[in-house]
Amino acid sequence: MTRLFMPLLTLGCLLTTSSVLANTTKPAPANSSKHTTAKGHSHDPAHSHKAHVHGKALLTLALDKQQLEAALEAPAESITGFEHAPRTADHQQRILMALVNLKQKPLQFNTEAGCKATDTKVDNPFAGGGHQEHRDFDARYRFECATPGKLRSLDASALFRAFPRLKTLNVEYLLPGGQGSTTLTPARPRAELRQ
Ligand SMILES: [Zn+2]
Repeated sequence: MTRLFMPLLTLGCLLTTSSVLANTTKPAPANSSKHTTAKGHSHDPAHSHKAHVHGKALLTLALDKQQLEAALEAPAESITGFEHAPRTADHQQRILMALVNLKQKPLQFNTEAGCKATDTKVDNPFAGGGHQEHRDFDARYRFECATPGKLRSLDASALFRAFPRLKTLNVEYLLPGGQGSTTLTPARPRAELRQ
């Protein structure tokens, strides 16, 4: 039953984007009245957020001396399976589980770097109510790396296992010795970090 909502929501995203950017005469989807009035909507071209695409999350990594910062932004649809305000106990439970799973170190680095999680902060996009059509989970992880020069790889398989609706993770990294970007998937959850 819930599966049926995914293509509709995805279609809603695409239609909203295309109608804003290209085709204003296109008939809007039936539920679009909420889209146009939502404050801070991710599709708003003036908004600073990255593109909100269901199934896709963005991870940025930045290493400064021994401190590694990881910031994850993921559509709530890919994390809880819905983005509307929670209506049932099951919805509330799924939000709680998502917050727990996001806090439980879903990212791992090669052991030689000796990176240990020191601080984690996960924002609940459902907090404060509201009737937004789209929401993002934002999580920030701070690691202390004993041998940062040996940081070579990232493993996001725990993240994909915890959130099967997540299909791609775009990774952008900035290390003292190099920078780059790569795309991870459940079938290819590990990234080499060049530095
Ligand atoms: Zn959405």
